[in-house]
Amino acid sequence: MKILLSKRVLNIPKSSTLQITAKAKELKRMGFDVINFAAGEPDFKTPKEVINEINRAIEEGYIYYAPSKGYKELREEICKKYKELYNVDINPEEVIITPGAKQAIFEAISSIINPGDKVLIPSPCWVSYEPMVKLCDGRVEFVRTIEEEGFKIDIEDLRKKANGAKLLIINYPNNPTGSSYGYDELKEIVDICLENNLYILSDEIYDRITFEKHVTMLSFKDIRDRLIVVNGFSKTYSMTGFRLGYAIANEKIIDEMSKVQEHTVSCATSFIQIAAITALRKCEYFVRMMNYEYKRRMDYISRRLSEIGISFVKPKGTFYIFPKFNYNGFKLANILIEKYHVATIPGEAFGIGGENHLRLSITLPIEKIEEGIQRIEKCLKEMNY
Ligand code: PMP
Ligand code: GLU
Repeated sequence: MKILLSKRVLNIPKSSTLQITAKAKELKRMGFDVINFAAGEPDFKTPKEVINEINRAIEEGYIYYAPSKGYKELREEICKKYKELYNVDINPEEVIITPGAKQAIFEAISSIINPGDKVLIPSPCWVSYEPMVKLCDGRVEFVRTIEEEGFKIDIEDLRKKANGAKLLIINYPNNPTGSSYGYDELKEIVDICLENNLYILSDEIYDRITFEKHVTMLSFKDIRDRLIVVNGFSKTYSMTGFRLGYAIANEKIIDEMSKVQEHTVSCATSFIQIAAITALRKCEYFVRMMNYEYKRRMDYISRRLSEIGISFVKPKGTFYIFPKFNYNGFKLANILIEKYHVATIPGEAFGIGGENHLRLSITLPIEKIEEGIQRIEKCLKEMNY
């Protein structure tokens, strides 16, 4: 019998970041000495305060469905954090708690995009935006970024493509390039979106892993009605497996997203939400400790890459670095994992502009980073690079 599966789903690829990360973990489990630069997740243990609170919350009976938008106490705590960090005023009705930031992004796109709508995405970009737009029958147009200027959006290209577009998806600090933007640069982008009536989906999941001050898109009051900011607990509190994220947008958009949530996942896990309140209240020390450590590792790997003559743009945030090679990224990543047991993500996986790059995630201790760099150097030498 012929099975006719959905063209929409047949049309999207698997997530290369998740696939390669799983492969690296599997090799490690099999006993290979793998240096894993592929994993897009922190290597620190979740703070003990959060774990203890999960146990307490379960004991206390937070084992049933939570309200679809999330517990009000958690939404209030997020508002407080944004006030404290960025001095922006958000009301809890403008927040929805989701099982992971990924779900928040999907709900936002589902709530905004009609079939055929044009969505602009600066590229290289994280692997899941385009598939999500396609799942909503939207049409992606990539906007160029300029590597020589730190992988910043090419403003002229954005201006040209903004006409007739519905949504801009921006992500900073950026996965995979580590690029970010200051206030004036963001203002220029916001103004183009305002002139062309675009919505902005601003994925700021790496806002607390920054080597310079982060400016949230929420700072721009004029765009607030057309803005969705996405964030989460995965990266900030090393809680990737807990699946907890959120979105901030005007109430009308949040209500629409909430409908998608009600009919798909119902709500985010109740006891994890309770523990997240503790993360926000008590774990600022942890966020700072991780940030300090990533900065140290980033300085280290930057120095080492320079020493062996590999070019890269110095990241302004995230735990990714995106060096450039005179070699196809897929091929190089393949040689590195097969022969040298070094896992990386080929730049091509991140689309236009990612060709001949590798994404290295520095979520491993400096000794391991050093070992990985030595293996990469050996590989390049043996290839007569
Ligand atoms: N956005 C970006 C840019 C990411 O790198 C990730 C990584 N997982 C996510 C969103 C989703 O995060 P999560 O669903 O774990 O909250
Ligand atoms: N965001 C991380 C990455 O880019 C985790 C995997 C994923 O969700 O894509 O590697």
